[in-house]
Amino acid sequence: MRNLSLEQSAAAESSEERVQRHQGVRMNRLAMSAVSYALQLAIVGSICVLSQLEPIYFLGYAFCSLLIVGGFYAMFRWRWNLYFRYPSLALPQVIAPVLPSMILLYQLQDAQAQAAILITAVVPLVYGLFDLSSGRFIIAGLVYALGYLAVLLTHSYFHPGDPLFRHNWVLIISVSVVMAQIGLIGGFINHLRRALRSRNEQLKQAMHRISVMAVHDDLTGIYNRRWLMDVLDKERQRLDRGEHAFSVCLLDIDYFKEVNDQYGHGVGDRVLAGLAEAISTTVRDIDTFGRLGGEEFLWVMPDQDLEQAREAAERVLAQTAALRFRNGQGGELSVTVSMGVAHCNVDNRRSSETLMRIADQALYKAKERGRNRVVCAPDNTQARGSTRLDESGIACTQAQDCALAG
Ligand code: GH3
Ligand code: MG
Ligand code: MG
Repeated sequence: MRNLSLEQSAAAESSEERVQRHQGVRMNRLAMSAVSYALQLAIVGSICVLSQLEPIYFLGYAFCSLLIVGGFYAMFRWRWNLYFRYPSLALPQVIAPVLPSMILLYQLQDAQAQAAILITAVVPLVYGLFDLSSGRFIIAGLVYALGYLAVLLTHSYFHPGDPLFRHNWVLIISVSVVMAQIGLIGGFINHLRRALRSRNEQLKQAMHRISVMAVHDDLTGIYNRRWLMDVLDKERQRLDRGEHAFSVCLLDIDYFKEVNDQYGHGVGDRVLAGLAEAISTTVRDIDTFGRLGGEEFLWVMPDQDLEQAREAAERVLAQTAALRFRNGQGGELSVTVSMGVAHCNVDNRRSSETLMRIADQALYKAKERGRNRVVCAPDNTQARGSTRLDESGIACTQAQDCALAG
C-alpha cells in the first residue's frame, strides 16, 4: 500500500542532504574568515610599508594565512572534519590565527601598530560567537589572553625595562574585558539559537502530525476519503497523459449494522480497524486502500486490468471471510464483504466521479445478488455490441446481468 511516511521521508531532508547543507554553511564561514585574513594581511602590509616591520613577516603572515585557510578548506572539501566530535571545527578555526598574530605582535615596535594587530586578531573570535558554546568560547578567549601574555613575558625577559611593552598591560586588561563581554553576548546568542532550534523541531513534528492526520482515518489509521480522492484524480490524470490503466474496487461490509446491534459499537469499531489492517497489509505496495466512511472502503489498483482486479478482489474476499474477530462476549465473529470493481483505460476514459458511480452500481449488484461476492462493471470493449451502454458504462438493457459478471 502506498505509505505516507515513505513519501514524507522522501520529501524530508535525508541525512546526506543535511550533511551537505552543514558543509555548505561551514564553507561559507570559511570564505568569510578568508576575507578577514585578507584584511588583516592588508594591515600587516601597510605596517611593512611604513617600514616598521621586515617584509619577511608580511610573507610569513601570508603563508600562515594560506596554510590555515587551505587546511580548513581541505578538511571540509574532503569531509575529514566529519571524523571530529565537533565537525564545525569552530574552536580550531578561532584559535589557529593566534600564533602568527602573536609573532607579529612581538616584532612590532609601535604601540599603535600593536593595538591594530591585537584588535584585528580578535575578529576570528567574533566569528566563533555563532558556533561556540560559552564554555568553548571561554577556552578560545583564554588562548588569546595567554598568547598575548606570553608575548609580554617573553619581551620583558629579553628586553627588561622596555617601556613599550610595559604599557601593554593596560591593553591586555582591556582586551580581556572586551572578550569577556563578547563571551557573555555569545552565550546569549547560543541560548537563542538553541531555543530557536528546539522550537523549529517542535514545529516540524506538529506539521508532521497535522499532515498525517489530514489524510488518515482516525479509527482505522488507513487513508481517508480526502487522500483516496486525490489518488483517484492523479490516476485519472496519468491516464490522460498516456497509456495507463487502473481499476478501483469499492468494498462494503455486509450486514454490519447487525454486528453493532448484536455486539455493540465498540466491537464494530474493532472489526472495522482489524479488517482495515488485514486488507491494507495484503494489497500491493503501489495500491492504495483507504476508508471512504462508515463501513465502506476504496481500493485503487494502478496498472490492473478488469480481470486482474477481479482476481485480486476475489482473494481479499476469501481472506476477509477467513478473518476472526473477538465479539466481546468471549467468542468470535466473522464478517463478509461485497465488492464492486470498475476499470479505466484509454478505451474507457471515465471521470473519477463516473468511475466511482459505476463501481457503486456494481457494488449494489453484489449486494442484490446475495452479498459476499465481487461484481465487475463491464468496460466498453466487453459490453459494446451486445449491450446498450449509458453514460456511466454500466450496461442498461436486459443483457445487463450478463455483462456484470458476478
Ligand atoms: P449491507 O450489507 O447492506 O451493507 O448492510 P449494512 O448493515 O452493512 O449497511 P447499513 O448501511 O444498513 O449499516 C451500516 C452500519 O455501519 C450502520 C452504522 O451504525 C455502521 N457504522 C458506520 N460507521 C461506523 C463506525 O465508525 N463504527 C461502527 N461501529 N459502526 C459504524
Ligand atoms: Mg454494509
Ligand atoms: Mg454501506
